[in-house]
Parts: sequence; structure tokens; C-alpha cells
Amino acid sequence: MLTLEQKLDILMTLATDDQDGPPGSQTLPPRLRHTKEVGALRPLNIRTVRPGNGMRVPLLRILMTNACSYNCHYCPMRRDRKLPRTLLKPDELVRIFLGAHRRGWCEGLFITTGIPGRPVKVMDDLITVLELLRERHSFAGYIHVKMVPGAEAAQVERLTSLATRVSLNLEAPCGASLAQIAPDKNFDVTVAGLEQVRSLVTLERAARQEGKPRDPIHPGGTAGMTMQFVVGATPDSDRSILTKVTELYSGGGIHHAHFSAFRPISETPMENVRGTPALREHRLYQADWLLRRYGFERDEVVYDDGGNLPLGIDPKAAWALRNVERFPVEVRTASYDELVRVPGIGLGTARRIVAERGTALLRGIADLRQLGVLTSRAAGFLTLGGRRLQDVRWSEQLGFWQPEEEAGAYQLVYDVSPGTFR
Ligand code: SF4
Repeated sequence: MLTLEQKLDILMTLATDDQDGPPGSQTLPPRLRHTKEVGALRPLNIRTVRPGNGMRVPLLRILMTNACSYNCHYCPMRRDRKLPRTLLKPDELVRIFLGAHRRGWCEGLFITTGIPGRPVKVMDDLITVLELLRERHSFAGYIHVKMVPGAEAAQVERLTSLATRVSLNLEAPCGASLAQIAPDKNFDVTVAGLEQVRSLVTLERAARQEGKPRDPIHPGGTAGMTMQFVVGATPDSDRSILTKVTELYSGGGIHHAHFSAFRPISETPMENVRGTPALREHRLYQADWLLRRYGFERDEVVYDDGGNLPLGIDPKAAWALRNVERFPVEVRTASYDELVRVPGIGLGTARRIVAERGTALLRGIADLRQLGVLTSRAAGFLTLGGRRLQDVRWSEQLGFWQPEEEAGAYQLVYDVSPGTFR
């Protein structure tokens, strides 16, 4: 019989390595650099954006159980893999979370789970956790719950009403490829669950806009859904994945997608499959960001002949080089929309340029740096008062990534996989 502390060790260890990027790597982009920062019942794990006010909050990330009846080929928790299994009962999990919360270790909860037995039973337990937290203990903070596919409609409705955010793992962009790596899962069933949640989110948001008062105990999933894809475990191209992602975004109710580069797990059928470069995951996030925040259309994303994002150049730079006739852009007169499409100019920087040039004359490269322009990347795409800022070939200027350093990052065999907590 395991003690509570031993159970936590098992369940939170699986969260420990569920970080972006290979363990210990210091050569990755900043977002991909955090590993080994947590242990059992210690703070914590990831940070997320609090809906509404943009504040970041620390979360307790925990598995309800690492037992699973499914046998997904890529997963460390698959049925046939030898692993110490345990579970937390809903009241145990609630007690742990409230204890950590009282100590100031976390402000919110991210709960996910394996699926031992029937999905409806697992959903009942997830709902019980949320009911206890919300309705018995009046916890009004952030709760992200990863839903189990195959739940009953009434369960989905109840869970969504109590959660701040609901997520679902799609894993692959279509049923045929999902069947190759997750024989027990059904793509249509998962998408049906996603469709139900997102329609509930959309309805709740609409009701709020029409004056329904905010209820922190029943937030109705209004932070928006997230969904996850395992990248490289199937032959699906980046184009297929992003096409599916944008199709799902267009229906509303989804906040963003997560992309988890496949890495081989020991003692699984995919142990000897080559890992996916961490940089591919990073490029997908960059392209997704362009689609969601920068106003890019789906058919503006540049792919290579295999339908994948080029690894050696970021997606905005790839688009700029494909559309050279749109450059250079004149800093003093360009619209905000034109500025954000310049490599090296982000959303905040474009806003600052537009605001600043209304009151002051921008004179040179130092002024642009002051406003946040990455001039080593942007200068070749800009003019200021009609003068070119830099006369360097774009292709040379954009050689700032060193993909070969990062692209091989997942060539080891691991005991845990990324993506459980995304
Ligand atoms: S991916 Fe989920 S359903 Fe599949 S084996 Fe792992 S825990 Fe179970």
C-alpha cells in the first residue's frame, strides 16, 4: 500500500519531465528550456495566462492516475508498459491541491489522467474533483482539466461548467493516422467531444456578452479550449496539422493548439522510431502564432516540398522571402498590419512604433532598437525616411537560426513523453 507521498512522487514525476524541450538542454529557445524543476508536492510546474487580466499564474500539475486501459504506441502510461501504477481519489487530490494552495505554492490546478476502465467513470471522478473544489470549498481560481474522450453529453456539460479551461488531445489531424499510433482511440469520438465543449464555451461567452453575470464557481470553460497534437509520430505534414488546426479554430471556442514533438519512449512499440526535432515543434508554434495573432491567412504559410515548415528559417521570415515585392516597408508611414509582417518586429513593437511616430520623428536605427525592433533581422526589410537601413542580402541576414544544433535534440530514448500537460 503506497503512502500519499509515494503516490504523489509517481504522479508528479510524470509531470516533471513533461516540459518543452529535451532534459537539461541549454541550447533551445527560451520557451523550450525548463526541466527538473519540480518534485512531489513542490511548486510548480508551468505558468499560464490568467484569462481576463493577462496575469500569469503558477499551476499545480497533477495526474489523477497513471493507470490506463488504452495502449497508445507512443505513451509511457500505455497498458502494456511496466510501470508502478497508482491513483488519487478525488478527495485526496482536492486535499493535496488545497494544501499547496494554502501554502502559496500554486494559484491554479491542471489536472489530467490516464483512462483506467470506462471513460464515463473517469469523467465522474474528474467532475467530483471539480465539484469539491468549486462547490464545497468555493475555489474560484483557474482550473484546467483535460477531458476524456467518450464521455456522456451531460458529463461534458457539467465538467465544462465547472472548469476554466477544458482541453482534449487530438494527437493526429485525422482518424487514419490516429489509428496508427492509438488503436483504442477514435478520432470522430474525440472531435465530437471537442465540438460539444466548444459550443458550450461559445454559448457561455455569448451569454456573458449579453449581460449574464460572471460566476467564478462556474466559469463555463470561457478561457477557451486547447488541443494537442503529437508531431512526427505519424507521417502527417505540418501543412496537414495546421490545416486541421485552422479549421477547428474557425468554429470558435478554442484558444490555441499545442504541438508536442514525438520522442521515443523506452519499452513501447515506438521505442526505435526516430524522435521529432524539437525545432519542428517550435516552428509549428511560430506558424500558429502568425495565424492567430498576426493576421496571416492559412494559405500564406510557406512549406517545403514535403508540406513541412522549413526548419532553418522561421515562418515569418520564410513568408517575407516569398513576398519580396512587399518590402522594404517604410517605418514612418507603414500601417500596423504591414509592420507586424516584418521579421524582427513583434506585435508590441509595431504598436510602439505607430504610437511613437505620432509624436516624435524616428531618425535612425538606434530609435528603432529603443522601440524593440530586432534590427539585426528587420533592418534589411525597412526604410526610414526613404533610406535603406541596411544593405545586406536577406538570405544572409536571416541565417540567425542554427537548426542543426537543435534539430537532433530528441534522439535519445526517454521514459516520459512531452505533452501530457499541454
Ligand atoms: S495517451 Fe492517454 S489514453 Fe493513450 S495510453 Fe497514454 S494515457 Fe492512455
